[in-house]
Amino acid sequence: MTYPFWMPCLVVHGGAGEPPMTERAERQAAVERGLECGWRAMERGAMEAVLAAVRQLEDEPSLNAAVGACLNRDGEIELDAALMEGGELNVGAVGAVKDVRHPVDLARAVMEDGSHVLLTGEGASRFARQRGVETCDPEVFMTDRQLRNWWEAGDTVGAVAFDDRGRTAVAVSTGGTYRKWPGRLGDSPLAGAGFYAEDGMGVACGTGVGEGFMRLCLCHLAVMEMGHGMPAPEVASKAVDHLARRVGGSGGVILIDAKGVPAAACNTSFMSWAKRVG
Ligand code: ASP
Repeated sequence: MTYPFWMPCLVVHGGAGEPPMTERAERQAAVERGLECGWRAMERGAMEAVLAAVRQLEDEPSLNAAVGACLNRDGEIELDAALMEGGELNVGAVGAVKDVRHPVDLARAVMEDGSHVLLTGEGASRFARQRGVETCDPEVFMTDRQLRNWWEAGDTVGAVAFDDRGRTAVAVSTGGTYRKWPGRLGDSPLAGAGFYAEDGMGVACGTGVGEGFMRLCLCHLAVMEMGHGMPAPEVASKAVDHLARRVGGSGGVILIDAKGVPAAACNTSFMSWAKRVG
C-alpha cells in the first residue's frame, strides 16, 4: 500500500510548574533523554515512539511519574497513565495504581485488550498481574528526594508524536498533584482532558493542575481547533490562556497539528520540553 510521506515529529514534556531554579536543568536533561529514546523508536511508528519516551521518563527520579512521583496526603504514591492512537481512537488508561512498575505499559495492555478504556486501583493491578505486566513493591517509586520534599509538586511527563504516515499518538504518565486526596484522578488518564489524538486533526497532551483541564476538556478542544485550521502555535498559546482565564488553571500543553507542525506553551514560569522533527 502506498501512502503520502510526512516529516515525523516527536514532542516530549516533563511537566509545567514552578520548580526551584536549581532543579530546572536536571528536569530538562531528563526530558532530552526521553526524547532520544522516543526518537529511536520512531521508525516503528508514532505509538512506539510515545511509549518509549514515556517509559524512559517514568524512570527519571526528577520527574513526577513512577520513580520520583509525588506523594498523596497519606504519603503514598498513586499513579495515572494513558495512551491514545489517533487512527481508530483507541485509548487505554489506568488510575491510582500503586504497584505497577511502568504504568504506561499497563495503559497499553488496557488499550490492546479493548474491552475497557480506564481501569483504576486494585482492579487495575489485578489486570496487570493477569496480563503479565510487571508489578513491583511501591517502595521502588520512593526516592530520598520525594521523602525529603514530599510537599513539593513534581512534574508529569508526556509525549505526542506524528509519524511518516501521518499517524498520531500520545502517552502520558503522572503521580498527579502533591497532597492529593487518596483515590483522586486528574486529567492525565482522562481522554479529552489530559490528552487527545485524532489523525487528520492533531494530537495534544497537557500538564498542570488537572482539575482545570478536566473542566474544559482542554486537549480535545485544542485538537478540534487544529483540525479546523488554527495553526499549532496559536492553539497552544490560546489553550493556556483559556485555561487561566476561564477556570483560573495553570499548566502547559504540547501538540502537533495535522500537517506535523509542533508547538508548546505554558502559563507557568517553567515547562521542560523538547522536540525533534525530521
Ligand atoms: N496533570 C497532572 C494531574 O493533575 C499533574 C501534572 O501535570 O503535573 O494529575
